[in-house]
Amino acid sequence: MTSYKLLMLPGDGIGPEVAREVEKLTTFMTTKGVAKFEIDTDLVGGAAYDAHGVAITDAAMAKAQSADAVLFGAVGGPKWANVPYEHRPEAGLLRLRKEMELFANLRPAVCYPALADASSLKREIIEGLDIMIVRELTGGVYFGEPKEIVTLENGQKRAVDTQVYTTFEIERIARVAFDLAKVRGNKVTSTEKHNVMRSGVLWKQVVSNIHSKEYPEVELDHHLADACGMQLVRWPKQYDVIVCDNLFGDMLSDVAAMLTGSLGMLPSASLGAPNANGKRKALYEPVHGSAPDIAGKGLANPIAMIGSFGMALRYSFGLVQQADMVEKAIANVLAAGLRTKDIATHGQATIATSQMGDAIVAEFGKLI
Ligand code: NAD
Repeated sequence: MTSYKLLMLPGDGIGPEVAREVEKLTTFMTTKGVAKFEIDTDLVGGAAYDAHGVAITDAAMAKAQSADAVLFGAVGGPKWANVPYEHRPEAGLLRLRKEMELFANLRPAVCYPALADASSLKREIIEGLDIMIVRELTGGVYFGEPKEIVTLENGQKRAVDTQVYTTFEIERIARVAFDLAKVRGNKVTSTEKHNVMRSGVLWKQVVSNIHSKEYPEVELDHHLADACGMQLVRWPKQYDVIVCDNLFGDMLSDVAAMLTGSLGMLPSASLGAPNANGKRKALYEPVHGSAPDIAGKGLANPIAMIGSFGMALRYSFGLVQQADMVEKAIANVLAAGLRTKDIATHGQATIATSQMGDAIVAEFGKLI
């Protein structure tokens, strides 16, 4: 049986608590012969700073580069508020993203029927929702130069950020979106602001070209990014895959996230370019942070982390059936009424992090 190399970087706060629940699942899968994992663990964030004086060591970086997938928990917390800027906990995550060249960020927004009432939108609008936001992660206005604040002769200040994209950058993120659409609902919506931005004009042209040359069988439409934000809260089920630049993706993925309820439910993947064998560098992480307010109390919802592992099964290990089973196990546990505190409605009984992990593993076992 193929053995998959998984590097666990649990990090700080609730990171190690939710990572522990994934390890229960990997152990169970290995024991039952469902899949085999070679798991290594290392420090990142504040934990790495305390041990080594840096947010991630070169040795941990080397492990990340050679792993089939990295599963990252969360970093940060008040304990490290005053460490030197270059060693702050988040620097570990930024180094991973930069050196692994993770240019594509995938954020699914799935609304489990059992949680439809936890959304701020009406049940009929979000029940059964399953969309994927594909955000360009390494270009655009967050990185473009010049990026500066200068003082003018009259004493006023002038701030500049530069939105910049090349054909290459747009093509590679578009291909990620089209490839995903082919195994989902076969529809891509590309978003930009071509009405007011030159980068939007190029974005629309390049996405259209890639579509007609390489993916004519996939349905493509174009929405202005502001209209897309409006449509996401009006009728989100019209979307399958949404592809967007770094800035619009940042905002639209947060809007989509809130459709589904709690931060504790949201997984994500960040992918690099495929190598000669078609394998991509990849890092999977829950969208939430280290939640210092609940760390160590057994209150963290492990579903975002377990869902992130599910994405690794699907996108890095090619274990699609097993990934489907993880998602089904989560859905079944929720349908059975099990809730951590963050997803419980008023008066509902709640369970601890480890109980939620145990329940998902048990449910997974029934699906084998
Ligand atoms: P957060 O995501 O840690 O927490 C926001 C709120 O959501 C808190 O009330 C928290 O208790 C709750 N929450 C988050 N995850 C949860 C879960 N799995 N189950 C139940 N409740 C959950 O964001 P924050 O409070 O703004 O930041 C806390 C720390 O995390 C900061 O140091 C921040 O820099 C860091 N952070 C790290 C990452 C990352 O590692 N990728 C992302 C965001 C924030």
